[in-house]
Amino acid sequence: MTEKTFFMIKPDGVERRLIGEIIHLIERRGFTIERLELRMATEDILRQHYSHLVDKPFFGDILGYMLSGPVLIGVISGPKVVKSWRIMMGATNPVDAVPGSIRGDFAMGPVDGNIKNVVHGSDSKEAAQREIALWFGQSNN
Ligand code: UDP
Ligand code: MG
Repeated sequence: MTEKTFFMIKPDGVERRLIGEIIHLIERRGFTIERLELRMATEDILRQHYSHLVDKPFFGDILGYMLSGPVLIGVISGPKVVKSWRIMMGATNPVDAVPGSIRGDFAMGPVDGNIKNVVHGSDSKEAAQREIALWFGQSNN
């Protein structure tokens, strides 16, 4: 079975008109786009999506960031796509992300402690299944 992952272009990426460039990278890498949708996140879905961060002092900043505009969410498939997309994204903090990675090329440093890093990708196959079900519904796994 082909592996799938959940990805997102966050509000800063959409606002900065980076959708086309990032989708181009996904297609150039040879991944298949299975789902794609532009929508507003909600606090409820973000609390589930970032359940590992809800108790952090900066979670309010994450909510403000992720609700600041629409996000492009999608499912992509391909060989080892979970790990491969994480490598394409680069490190969480843009200062650590190597040039050539999406975060390394396009993201700004932390602004007011809030890390605006353009893209999201599931960090394991289990997380991918959970996130695809959360954002697109159970039947899409
Ligand atoms: N984040 C943040 N400050 C932190 C840790 C995380 O603003 O100290 C935000 C950042 O946007 C990050 C997201 O919360 O991308 C999710 O954090 P995670 O550790 O899961 O990193 P990722 O999987 O996105 O690389
Ligand atoms: Mg994560």
